Amino acid sequence: MHYKRKKQDMFMYRNLYAGKRKRRDVKPGYGLTKIFVFCIIAGLMFLTVYENGRIMRKLLSEPSDGSFWGETAKESGERKIRIVLDAGHGGKDTGSFYGGMYEKDIDYMVVRDMQKFLESMGAEVILSRDENDFATEYERIKTANSKKADLFVSIHCGCGREDVGMPGMECYYAGDGSLGMEYADALAEALRQEASIKCSGAGRRDFYVLKNADMPAVLVKLGSLYDPDDRRKLEEASYREQVSRKLAESIMQLFYK
Ligand SMILES: [Zn+2]
Repeated sequence: MHYKRKKQDMFMYRNLYAGKRKRRDVKPGYGLTKIFVFCIIAGLMFLTVYENGRIMRKLLSEPSDGSFWGETAKESGERKIRIVLDAGHGGKDTGSFYGGMYEKDIDYMVVRDMQKFLESMGAEVILSRDENDFATEYERIKTANSKKADLFVSIHCGCGREDVGMPGMECYYAGDGSLGMEYADALAEALRQEASIKCSGAGRRDFYVLKNADMPAVLVKLGSLYDPDDRRKLEEASYREQVSRKLAESIMQLFYK
């Protein structure tokens, strides 16, 4: 009897427990939450696999001329690396003049070559002046700041009095410890690796355009027109192209190390 009673109790408790479990299992929304979480995880996994696959296909199929980065930026809606190239002087302002060569023309020719190379590597290039136009320093830097450029590069041929008797290339920055200083150092180092290019390194010169740029800014001196060796080299289109290509490659490397 006592045993029977106990057995009945056991059945009762078991049924009660089963009932509780049953009630818990049918809790409203529990099944839907699981499906929702599963869908989120599956969606994330699909996106990860799809995105990695797309990048891998790109890396394997694109030529290594740097255009991959530009196209990827375009496809994903991100903007390209935007560089303002500033050809020194222009119009009524000739810059330095020696041996029948105007600095403003050399600066502009090199800037156009650099534009060609940088665009082929996927960058967006904005020029601070047209071929025969004059632009003030304020206008040049206003262009760079309003376009929110990633880098401002000014091109000159040693037009200051201090550049007489200072041949070769040099890269300048404003402010010690700035990103411009780091970039000027990197560009100078890259130029020094080319045997036919003479570059004396990087140095600080607080030019107006370098000081007032909202982005990293570098001024590259191509050489001095007062120096016969520099003048002869800068007259050659092939040398200007070589320098422009090296500068363009080194600039892209600043962003895609
Ligand atoms: Zn100049």
